[in-house]
Amino acid sequence: MYKNLQTPCFIFNEMEFERGVSGFREALESRFANVKIGYSVKTNSLPYALQFARQLGCMAEVVSHDEYRLARLCGYNPDEIIYNGPMKSKETFIEAVVGGAIVNLEAKRELDWLDELPDNKIHNIGIRLNINISHVSPEDADGEDDNSRFGFSDESDEFKEALNRIELNSKVRLAGLHIHRTTHSRSPLFYERSVGYAVKVIRKYDLNIDYIDVGGGYFGIFPNKPTFTDYAEALRNSLDDPEFNNLTIIIEPGNALTASPFSFLSEVIDLKRVDSDTHFVTTDGSRNDIDTFFKKTDYLKEIIFKDSKGQRERLPLQIVTGCTCLEYDRLFTLRDFPGLKVGDRILYNNVGAYTLTLSPQFIRLWPRVYALGKDGEFKLVRRESQVEDILSK
Ligand SMILES: *Cc1c(COP(=O)(O)O)cnc(C)c1O
Repeated sequence: MYKNLQTPCFIFNEMEFERGVSGFREALESRFANVKIGYSVKTNSLPYALQFARQLGCMAEVVSHDEYRLARLCGYNPDEIIYNGPMKSKETFIEAVVGGAIVNLEAKRELDWLDELPDNKIHNIGIRLNINISHVSPEDADGEDDNSRFGFSDESDEFKEALNRIELNSKVRLAGLHIHRTTHSRSPLFYERSVGYAVKVIRKYDLNIDYIDVGGGYFGIFPNKPTFTDYAEALRNSLDDPEFNNLTIIIEPGNALTASPFSFLSEVIDLKRVDSDTHFVTTDGSRNDIDTFFKKTDYLKEIIFKDSKGQRERLPLQIVTGCTCLEYDRLFTLRDFPGLKVGDRILYNNVGAYTLTLSPQFIRLWPRVYALGKDGEFKLVRRESQVEDILSK
């Protein structure tokens, strides 16, 4: 099935992506009247995937002026964008607010920019609330003081000060609250508690808001891990008071939606033996493509033999390596396994999150990307980058 693809390459499975989006949406829509899903652009910014997400009714969740512009160029109108993070530009901030985007305040300079909005109408603005996991959900915390550098803190006086600035500004109203923390456990209980904390803050300041944006950090497809239904139920548990019936629930999944639809295909290009037992298998892929933090020890992988594996001698130890000159660009080890040959291929599944957006242009530039459509056909949706692309203009 992958025979005609040129390696190395990523493969975007459209049906798998659609399954994730509709699964999460259905879990939420059966519990809440108003739901919005923001596709986390930083997790996988492939333009084709962004455009596909828009066709499925997702918003684009962006965290910089560059990502904002990318989303605009991929067809998102401002009111289809969620604009987060400290790296907004004033120009795109004002365009987004005026255009009806969900804009969540993160940096203090944005409070100053509010003064420069046109005064033809009252603009909606959201604000990110700082979350200390140790205080909100100790079981999910990393250490005694799992604090965050994001959002305005209600444990200092900064959240209150920001509210005051918004209140005093006749051109804006507070329309929403944003929270986002990713925990190691990714436990539904954490979401129940962090939303519970947001509810406490809403009541403390008697906020009359339209949305709560719960951020990302969810599991996607793994068996025996929390499901979309578990997360939706956890959110519901903290928002079941009738006063929240009209609240719009926004989620910003990155990993949960983009990991499983992407696979990476590489090919064996050389074989080496360095002693009686140790065989190195060089491939045209690299950990830089699929393990950008160099932390993984194994992968959800399939080996595609170019011919029958039955006749092959089994080898005690094969170390499958990448194409870079890094000695530690070693992907995984095969023990007592049929000897691989040049031309065999390795398919790595579930590699769409924080890979394409984080790989460096190191030694070999970015690989090509194919999309696998419902019709079972592959099409090239991004060619490999070429040296000409990085020559200064
Ligand atoms: C990174 C990020 C996300 C996505 O996080 P995942 O852990 O990949 O789900 C969502 N919202 C914000 C604000 C982020 O920074």
